[in-house]
Amino acid sequence: MKKFKSLILLFLCLVPITGMVAHEPPIAKISSWILESNNPEQMEAIAQKFEIVSRNENQFEIYVLEPAIAEFKTLAPTAIPVSMDIDGDAQQKLFSLFDFSNGYRDFATVNNTLMELAQRYPHIVKLETIGTTNSGLVQYGLKISDNVQIDEEEPELLFTAATHGDEIITTEVLLRFIEEILAGYDQNQRLAALVNNHELYFVPVVNPDGFNSRRRYAGNVDPNRDYPWPGNENKIPVKCIANMIEFFHQRQFVGSIDFHAFGEMVMYPWAYTKTSPPPQDEAIFSDLSRRMTAANAYTYGQISKVIYVAQGSSADFYYWKFRTLAYGIEIARSKAPRVDQIPSVLNDVREMTYQFIEYF
Ligand SMILES: [Zn+2]
Repeated sequence: MKKFKSLILLFLCLVPITGMVAHEPPIAKISSWILESNNPEQMEAIAQKFEIVSRNENQFEIYVLEPAIAEFKTLAPTAIPVSMDIDGDAQQKLFSLFDFSNGYRDFATVNNTLMELAQRYPHIVKLETIGTTNSGLVQYGLKISDNVQIDEEEPELLFTAATHGDEIITTEVLLRFIEEILAGYDQNQRLAALVNNHELYFVPVVNPDGFNSRRRYAGNVDPNRDYPWPGNENKIPVKCIANMIEFFHQRQFVGSIDFHAFGEMVMYPWAYTKTSPPPQDEAIFSDLSRRMTAANAYTYGQISKVIYVAQGSSADFYYWKFRTLAYGIEIARSKAPRVDQIPSVLNDVREMTYQFIEYF
């Protein structure tokens, strides 16, 4: 009887555990395709449903989730497949080529870095918690300013990286950018002015679920197509983006840069339409872009004209809702350059970002 009872007890214990297994939709593979097209209507129809990730004149690279491949082929019968599983390919490449112990930082090391910096420079650095993701990971950020514990009357600026989790160069470069400023603050007047005259906020990993598993998306969602936009004002975004929006609401960001990789392009709204922003705004966006790209010779322009129409991007949302001078910047020439190439990417980003901060 005793044995029987303990069996029942075991059974009762097991039921809630197995019952708790999450019924998340399976992670779909992302395939990559190249399409040559001179047909704007065709490309518009494709952009409505799929992600156009890069463009070289009339050649487009497009990402398609595996279950939607048949639908994609009806819109793009001449597209040529490049990879049937970009995340799988990237993981193989990343884990075989890169040493995460001394080049790129993994998610746990990124968080440790942020906590250490907040401890080492408590007079100018404050750790911020943005929120928790669908899989329970915490999004951390740093505030960097003089009198960092109080909200001063200084321009507030936001810098974000790894909205796409596989664009690991963005996180690493943003961390090194932060570390340089903090290390030089006491000796270098220019760096001190950046910190003292602004409230700088950094979120090195917007999409921890993607970053932690070296995948582009958060689950099956592209976070940079998931913001509400003028054609879908009530869109409910994936958790990591909803947290960013809430964080944005609590502050008054006058400028923001969302770092992506790759392409060496400085881009501003709109993304969702080829219509330009009002002339006075467009003049500011392009004037500031010119200053930012003077040293690194990145190309610049309106997102929808430089790449293609894309709905639900961060730059559109922050400009649309808050009139923030919101940029999306594609850095580097790959999502994960070799470790010995990281310093040259940082060189490109450094002066560009100083120029951006000093504008405000
Ligand atoms: Zn990206």
